[in-house]
Amino acid sequence: MSKSKLSNIPTSRNRVVILGAGESGVGTALLAKQKGFEVFVSDFGKIAPQYQQELKENDIPYEEGQHTETLIFNAKEIIKSPGIPDKVPMIKELKKKGVPVISEIEFAGRYNKAKIIGITGSNGKTTTTHLVYHLLKTAGKNVEMGGNVGYSFARLVAQNAAKVIVLELSSFQLDGMFEFKSDIAILLNITPDHLDRYDYKMENYIASKFRIFRNQNSSDVAIYNTMDENINNYLVENPLESEEKPVRKIGVENGFLKVNRSKYKLKNVSLKGKHNMFNATAAILAVKELGVSNTLIQKGLESFRSVPHRLEKVAVIEGVEYINDSKATNVDAVYYALEAMNKPIIWVVGGTDKGNDYDPVADLVKDKVKAIVCLGVDNSKITTYFKNICNKIIETKSAKEAVRQSKKMAEKGDTVLLSPACASFDLFKNYIDRGDQFRAAVLGLKSK
Ligand code: ADP
Repeated sequence: MSKSKLSNIPTSRNRVVILGAGESGVGTALLAKQKGFEVFVSDFGKIAPQYQQELKENDIPYEEGQHTETLIFNAKEIIKSPGIPDKVPMIKELKKKGVPVISEIEFAGRYNKAKIIGITGSNGKTTTTHLVYHLLKTAGKNVEMGGNVGYSFARLVAQNAAKVIVLELSSFQLDGMFEFKSDIAILLNITPDHLDRYDYKMENYIASKFRIFRNQNSSDVAIYNTMDENINNYLVENPLESEEKPVRKIGVENGFLKVNRSKYKLKNVSLKGKHNMFNATAAILAVKELGVSNTLIQKGLESFRSVPHRLEKVAVIEGVEYINDSKATNVDAVYYALEAMNKPIIWVVGGTDKGNDYDPVADLVKDKVKAIVCLGVDNSKITTYFKNICNKIIETKSAKEAVRQSKKMAEKGDTVLLSPACASFDLFKNYIDRGDQFRAAVLGLKSK
């Protein structure tokens, strides 16, 4: 169909079209149906069987493997999955026709009654979201978490699930939100990531992250990291309206974490590494806003277990510790992983390169890494960069082989750390599959 014809398709006043039928799209469809809209869901790829079933059970029409333009261009509003870039021709055409294209967060925000704690950043979102949730749960609050992790925000809103919702928000989710507001917003850090979606301009990515504070006023709270240059520089030009709670340092002293005037004992806390102490600081500031006492925060910190695939301790076998940090898909995350280790490291690294610059980790590798085990299809960038920094570099093509080779080189007291700095799609389905295969291979060593 020609473009001019598309712009002539009449708009149906009550029709919303949802593009993408993953957790976000299906959650939105359920909420839109509940609110009385005529709903249509369209996914250019395959829709997972459980989501197809859910759509059928709720009498929501959908299509997969195509976008039928006549069924889409008549919408009064499009709710787009965060996975679909703004650049795709259909989105551009819809916008040209004047059809508003928004995100699930924007749509669900209109019907939300819960207090929102929104969390974004380049690294640490999932860990901090889980920790805030856990601290609130420990304190007996009526709380749920979701967004970019677990259930979609729209689904939680449709279920009227809780009084407080802790939301992990990616920059893609923030991009399509306009009126939505977090009551408490946390911006952890901004380091280069996903630049392909931001015209390769860091300033566009930074502006996208700052949307977390959009619409906040002086009765809302902004928690952010002043140790981050990108954040500081942006704030000079763009001051916030919110009540500001900056994190100026990571207050670890003599086995305690100090946050403003409060101190938390770290002896029985399993979260490790400077980055996690920072995440904990931000989380504590947030839950204090909801009146959680220091005693309950201490209790929550002690019972919190790290999220799988983020510095997850898998096992100690013959005196060698194995750690799965498969979610470390960029160099900054690896920096903090290497920094958190205090034993000699066999570093398992590699995968699909995202334009990595390894300079920030060169010194840490020199000091702490005794061998590098590449796990990827094309390892040339890693082998070339590190050949003068580490004298033992080997290449492997499966998690099993990587673990076997690591075991061969490791001595009692060493740590084998999977912290890949790269995406996983060359050899694995995703980072979860990579971490799961690594864990299974390690546990396989144990049973031998
Ligand atoms: P995200 O959801 O933002 O990807 P995760 O909590 O899943 O963040 O952690 C991703 C990776 O980043 C893991 O390897 C983790 O160890 C590391 N990480 C966690 N918090 C931080 C932080 N504050 N700064 C840098 N790296 C971090």
